[in-house]
Amino acid sequence: EHPMIEFGLQTKGSYEHMQEAKKYLPGGVTANIKHFAPYPVVMDKGKGAWLKDVDGHWYVDYLMGYGSLALGHGHSKIKEAVYDQLMDDGTCLFGTPHKLETAFAKKIMSYYPSIEKVRYTNSGTEATQLAIRLAQVFTGKKRIAKFEGHYHGGYKEMLYSINPPVSEAGLEEAPSPVPESAGVDVDGQEPYILPFNHLKGMEKLLKNHHKELAAVLIEPVQSGFIPADQVFMDRLRELTKKYGVILIYDEVKTGFRSALGGGQEKYQVKPDLTTLGKVIGGGFPIGVVGGRSDILDVSSPDRGADVFEAGAQGKASAKEVLFHSGTYNGHPTILAAGLATISVLEEGYNDVLSFTNELRKGIEEIGRKAGFPLKTCGVGSIFNVIWNQDTLPRHYRDLQKTNTKMRKELDFKLLQSGLYTKPLNRYSISAAHGEEELEFTLKAYEKACESLKG
Ligand code: PLP
Repeated sequence: EHPMIEFGLQTKGSYEHMQEAKKYLPGGVTANIKHFAPYPVVMDKGKGAWLKDVDGHWYVDYLMGYGSLALGHGHSKIKEAVYDQLMDDGTCLFGTPHKLETAFAKKIMSYYPSIEKVRYTNSGTEATQLAIRLAQVFTGKKRIAKFEGHYHGGYKEMLYSINPPVSEAGLEEAPSPVPESAGVDVDGQEPYILPFNHLKGMEKLLKNHHKELAAVLIEPVQSGFIPADQVFMDRLRELTKKYGVILIYDEVKTGFRSALGGGQEKYQVKPDLTTLGKVIGGGFPIGVVGGRSDILDVSSPDRGADVFEAGAQGKASAKEVLFHSGTYNGHPTILAAGLATISVLEEGYNDVLSFTNELRKGIEEIGRKAGFPLKTCGVGSIFNVIWNQDTLPRHYRDLQKTNTKMRKELDFKLLQSGLYTKPLNRYSISAAHGEEELEFTLKAYEKACESLKG
């Protein structure tokens, strides 16, 4: 017997694998987000919009690598691009400048007019770290502000107030910083926490603290599915400009998803810096920091010596240039996969949006017929299913008031019927989701709702 039996899942193979994995990996996982109770489903392979678990069950995949897989699993164009790069061009890593670095930068800039120069990193986490460092060096200021409920990667400086219990989070208009990890403290260096979609609260905090603030980071659409008000985004741009605070749009999740041009296309706002990741790597690890030339150029080695050529004749000292490096930065195989992804997506993005809209309509209608308050909330190719909500959530505090217990029950019923997303997670749609998947998904929803009624 294994504990998933009570959820009606025949996932004995997953259970046994996790028991084994726990002997070698803390909690049996390589990233905390992969865990869920009683134990996660262990996957064996992916194909198009589908995932197959180690017990042989197939699921329509709505996790899509946490939104990274805009074309689904194993798209032929990505395979070809990777193969060509590996086989024809003879290596997977040059460790030197190469042409794809510039070609990729131009492609990104064609969708993100706020970006004048870019640097590559190996993940979204590294990208937001670099963006923060650039802002600090450029402005000569130290403190950072982030919004309550927003995630910018798994590192000490940003692991505050992502999803704290509301009882610990202070006032809605002036939230308290709440550590989200062991080893993270409120010690006077933590970020200021701004209230998302709360105009007066945001204005007041910026007014009070702008002299210390190097940057404000924001997910323009929180977690990819809770949009900001237009007036809120306009005012944030206006105030950060007025106060000399660098505005960083973290578009790791929203890039090529809220729109091809991300949240900044939706809001028609030009941030000073943008971070990208996920989709643009075609399923491989990548991050990008892009933005104003004058800010990016603080990392330009043209300005002076770098740390490895300290004291080089006639150059400024190393500490005048922001040192940023990485053995794998601008990895040619990943850039090839990313370019292939973007070129397929630019043709197919409207179909992805149509699928998303059909699915959202279908889910809401099935909920209505079953007498369940199911609503969907989202932007572009990401949405979430909200249970028991009169109005749509405007920030994480609203989300905490939704009926997550029923949503979770629904999620386990859906798993049983062959839909995969991590319980309570959002849905990310790919170009591989088509008619067959739509029909299958809506049937699974009907079955799950029937079973919940019973
Ligand atoms: N920023 C945002 C908005 C994200 O959604 C994520 C990942 O989910 C990150 C940063 C971190 O990116 P990565 O997981 O590639 O380090």
